[in-house]
Amino acid sequence: MEPYKYELSEDELPRQWYNLAADLPTPMQPPLGPDGKPVRPEMLAPVFPMNIIEQEVSTQRWIDIPEEILALLAMWRPSPLFRARRLEKALKTPARIYYKHEGVSPAGSHKPNTAIPQAWYNKQFGITRLTTETGAGQWGSALAFACSLIGLECKVFMVRISFDQKPFRKLMMQTWGANCVASPSNETQAGRDILARMPDTPGSLGIAISEAVEQAVTDKGGKTRYSLGSVLNHVMLHQTIIGLEARKQLAKAGEKKPDVVIGCAGGGSNFAGLAFPFVCDKIHGADITILPVEPESCPTLTRGPFVYDHGDTAKMTPLLPMHSLGHSFVPPPIHAGGLRYHGMAPLVSQTVVEGLCTPRAYHQLKCYESAVLWARTEGYIPAPETSHAIACAIDEAVRAREEGKEKVILFNWSGHGLMDLAGYQKFFEGRLTDYSLPQADIDKFLRELNGLPQAPAKKTGKW
Ligand SMILES: *Cc1c(COP(=O)(O)O)cnc(C)c1O
Repeated sequence: MEPYKYELSEDELPRQWYNLAADLPTPMQPPLGPDGKPVRPEMLAPVFPMNIIEQEVSTQRWIDIPEEILALLAMWRPSPLFRARRLEKALKTPARIYYKHEGVSPAGSHKPNTAIPQAWYNKQFGITRLTTETGAGQWGSALAFACSLIGLECKVFMVRISFDQKPFRKLMMQTWGANCVASPSNETQAGRDILARMPDTPGSLGIAISEAVEQAVTDKGGKTRYSLGSVLNHVMLHQTIIGLEARKQLAKAGEKKPDVVIGCAGGGSNFAGLAFPFVCDKIHGADITILPVEPESCPTLTRGPFVYDHGDTAKMTPLLPMHSLGHSFVPPPIHAGGLRYHGMAPLVSQTVVEGLCTPRAYHQLKCYESAVLWARTEGYIPAPETSHAIACAIDEAVRAREEGKEKVILFNWSGHGLMDLAGYQKFFEGRLTDYSLPQADIDKFLRELNGLPQAPAKKTGKW
């Protein structure tokens, strides 16, 4: 029988995370404070614990994964590497398609890979409560799960419209013991101010971040911190366990290297997690095409400039050097595909500036068509975010057929879509359409960046 999955034992779990900052050919530009000067680590101390801030600014190549974190990750890791043989047959491609199944975690996505270390480091630092925001609910449920394992209180501000429309993620959080409230709420000054002005607002990630940060920094006891599920350097670091496992598993499958590496990109963490160890190989001479994939209706990497911008709408976060559509950007409501964040992880942005990674954008109908083909060949029903990576993997496999090449394609199957079936319903009922953002809309949001410091696009020109 031909093998379908390539598994590692728990003994083969990676013992260290890989930090791409150590190998980037052009160093990262620092985050900036409101005065335009680089942020000093201690300025972040009210928001994050110092042990996580140290990881955020580290340029050490390998960082040890504490034993206790490994023991918790071992509840579902190493995640299996699958070969999508039935999809290959359906596409009649000579390409070999491998995918890393991150949907096997208890919360159903890659997000617990960072939720667990974040909760653990906070606990070590003496923190008793974490606050966060969540949009569709995937991050909120991952952090709720992690806090329940580690013994921390967890408070989640969930964007009002999702809170009302997606009751199941909220119930998952409750099951894991977290307190999830609709944002804007009456619990914070930021929330009360918004409700006074706009009592019927559907909320936004920007508002929810403001509420979560405010509750962390105003805790007089100093025992509350805030936690973010993507974008920041330490999150990319924690996710590299995916790519490090995949490298060992590909070797077991008899592959020397992948030719193409693909991940969907919202804030950048699942893409970075799979891709960064291979970006390292590419920096050291390997010939690998590395593709982050985003929606046409939120085209941060493909159409947003590399700038200094805030991570949130309320401008509470430092300025980060990244590709951005502007901190007030709101994706069009007809979009049902997730991946709605206006910015992109600075580390991922820098790999794009350097030419090591080449972003692609896909329309949502093609993504849903690919997701359905996937479900009908490989079985698992992907999250709408994941379907962007699948659409790109299919395109690459078809291209390999047309070129008559035996390519090795590796992609990250970031999570299952069992809580996202309403998007599938809209697709089946023909209620979804494709949408390209007019340039005038992009320009409108980008005008708000006038006056912010410039982020020069520095690169070696090697790639
Ligand atoms: C959150 C999420 C994403 C997007 O976030 P990244 O930080 O870009 O990985 C993608 N897929 C799934 C399943 C998610 O839950």
